[in-house]
Amino acid sequence: MEVEKKELLYEGKGKKLYKTNNEDFVIAEFKDDLTAFNAQKKGTEYGKGSLNCQISSLIFELLNKKGIKNHFIKQIDDNNMLCKKVKIIPLEVVVRNISTGSLSKRLGIRDGLKLPFTLVELYYKNDELGDPIINDEHCKIMDILDNDDDINYIKDTARQINNILIDFFDSKNVTLVDFKIEFGRDIYNNIILADEISPDSCRLWDKENNKKMDKDIFRENLGNVVDAYQEILSRIK
Ligand code: UDP
Repeated sequence: MEVEKKELLYEGKGKKLYKTNNEDFVIAEFKDDLTAFNAQKKGTEYGKGSLNCQISSLIFELLNKKGIKNHFIKQIDDNNMLCKKVKIIPLEVVVRNISTGSLSKRLGIRDGLKLPFTLVELYYKNDELGDPIINDEHCKIMDILDNDDDINYIKDTARQINNILIDFFDSKNVTLVDFKIEFGRDIYNNIILADEISPDSCRLWDKENNKKMDKDIFRENLGNVVDAYQEILSRIK
């Protein structure tokens, strides 16, 4: 049965989610909008959404092959991805290999320092509160996740994804500095990887010269993101 795009379910900062004629599936449409600093900085770059849709699709396909359960079904066209319907768990799971961004700012760790081991952090996904960092106990108190098994599953899966993506990007001459992922519950209540993995949600540095190839270009006014995202897509295709 051909999938049909139906009414808008939800509009986020980077994507619109649509119902389909199959109630187990949704369509994620990637937007050209860019936001940073909790949406205090806004912009638009033509073609950004399409690049993120293509990059994210390639990464989800890779993770599928490696056995990481996720919501991706297929890329429909340049901007649209067919996904399993999930209920998003309000957590931003951040995985870090090199210190930069909010970690360096908060703890005074030198920007660019390779961490002695992979750091997994949890942030409560809540714009009004500014996505505060939380720990396992906060997760349980707030009922974001109510048991250690689920929390450990998410953290272990995040580490596995990191190992896969470090090797993948390294083979494309790109250093995976850090990234943010989100998980959701599918219709069977299983926890699976969801959302997107793209240069909007990862920090990617050119292995040759540490040049930024991700959304930091927008955050720090270093030029336009589309050229860098296009370069990422060309390298991983
Ligand atoms: N990140 C994200 N969405 C957010 C916050 C962070 O995709 O709302 C990603 C960000 O692109 C980086 C990683 O998570 O790859 C770690 O971000 P950090 O905590 O350093 O935040 P920032 O410096 O962007 O405030």
